Formats: sequence, C-alpha cells, structure tokens
Amino acid sequence: MVALSAAVVRPLVAQLHRQLVGSHRVTPVRRCNLTACSSKMHPMWQGPLAVPGGDRQSPIDIVVRKSVLDTELKPLKTTYDPKTCQQIWNNGYSFLVEYDDTTDKNTLKGGPLQDTFRLCQFHFHWGETNDWGSEHTVDRRLFPAELHLVHWNADRYSLFEEAVMEDNGLAVIGVFLKVGKRHEGLQKLVDALPTIRHKDSVVEFTCFDPGCLLPANTDDYWTYHGSLTTPPLTESVTWIVMKQHIEVSHDQLAVFRSLLFTSAEEEVQKSMVNNFRVQQPLRGRTVRSSFTPFLQGAPSAGGSK
Ligand SMILES: [Zn+2]
Repeated sequence: MVALSAAVVRPLVAQLHRQLVGSHRVTPVRRCNLTACSSKMHPMWQGPLAVPGGDRQSPIDIVVRKSVLDTELKPLKTTYDPKTCQQIWNNGYSFLVEYDDTTDKNTLKGGPLQDTFRLCQFHFHWGETNDWGSEHTVDRRLFPAELHLVHWNADRYSLFEEAVMEDNGLAVIGVFLKVGKRHEGLQKLVDALPTIRHKDSVVEFTCFDPGCLLPANTDDYWTYHGSLTTPPLTESVTWIVMKQHIEVSHDQLAVFRSLLFTSAEEEVQKSMVNNFRVQQPLRGRTVRSSFTPFLQGAPSAGGSK
C-alpha cells in the first residue's frame, strides 16, 4: 500500500464524498429507536434535509410473508475484474473500496435489471456490537453488518454522478454479514484498514475480487425500488438483497470498529460504529422475491456473539 499524493487525493476525495455522503447535511426521517445510536448521532444526520424523503426511501424491513414471488426474476450475472480495484477511503462515515468504472470490466446484469450496471464501489454498515448494524432487516431481525456493492447504469448514463440522480440509475446488492468463521477473502481488506483509520485517509488498494464477498447462492434474493441510504438519498436504486448471508469473524468486525469517524486533527476521536440509516416506511411498495418464501424460509437470525 502506498499513500497517494495530495494532488491525486484531493479531487478523488471530492468525488468519493459525492458518491457516498454528498455535500449537504440532513436530519433523520424519524429518530433511531436504538438507545445506542440516538445519543451518538453522526453529524451527517444533523441539520436540515438536503433532499426531503419521498415515497420510496431505504432501508426497509423485509417482511418475508408479504414478499411476492416473481417467476420472471432471473439469476444475477456478475463479472468482476480484481485488477480494476484502485483504493480504499475512509470518508468519515464508512470505508469505500473503489473500482475503475470507466469501462465495462465490472458488470452486473440479469436479476430484475434490464440494463448493464457497472460497479463503482462497495462499503459496509455495522453496529457497535454484534446485536445490530445492518440497514435492512428480515422480519425485524437485525444482522451485525451489511455489505453494499454499488453499481450504476452504464447503458443509460455516462457517469455515476449522472446516474445517481436519475430513475433506474443505480443497482445495489446488499449482503448480510453474520458472525461466525473468519472470511478468508475479506482478510486482505481487513489487514489494510489500519492504514485508513482516520477520516479522509486514502490508500492504494489493488487486486481485490468483490465477487468473493457474495454468498454461494446469489439466485435467491429480494428486490424493491428504493433510495440511497446516505445523502443525497435519491430514489434511484434498484435494491437486490441477498437471502443468504456471509460469515465473518468477530475479530474481523472488531477491525471495522477500530476505524474512526474523525480526522487526525480532531481532539475527541469517535469510533466508526452504528453507521446505518434508520428504517423507512414501505409506503405501498412491493418487495419481490426470486424464490418461494414459504418453502425456503428466511435466513436465520443474526446477532451471534
Ligand atoms: Zn450503504
């Protein structure tokens, strides 16, 4: 890993900030119901809303028995090139693993999608303990963490920045993390995290296959129309939430929690934990499933320690 020069980092930081956090401060739609996070609200969720919430906000609770089987839903097709991985960045809310998205080297097709979507980054949300942390829930069950692989529609748009503001602009794969066995594929990333402990740290990070973070079975998923869960909260996202979780060890999640929301200059350092948005109302939307919920059931509950 090599620290990037300031000349490279500054425009990169500005671009990545737009991609995950945006430039405006916002306020939550409703108060967090977790005692742990209501008293420790991240600055990103304070102040006036830049974009008022609409009717298709995320994340949501997925109610398994209310999800509707759609036999037209196809298997997902992902093609990822590990060599296009470029860097990791602590943006003060999560850490982003960024990919070169100037060509069609990392694509997502199929599933509920009509177009070809390109991966630009992935990141996680997690809690301060293993009892919560995921943004989506399944029948109100919380998972310790959730992975988001963010793709934009390269058939319709020419840049992520354009796609993020438009209908059908983004497709995000969500994967629940459960505590169990160490995830060998994730470890290379975990080993690099201490180098981006503070907000605004960026380091080069190459040769990482995002496909290693997908569960073995990607044929079974829920899908619905929603939004980004960070500002600008645009309702541009086709969510694809995997039924099957992946396992990571408690020690690997502990390294996530050793990151900081704060920059090196700040007097009071704050641990990067509870970086999830509160849940949003479904407002009449349908969650479709690619599998028969009644026969196959929901994933087992998270929160093991
Ligand atoms: Zn996310």
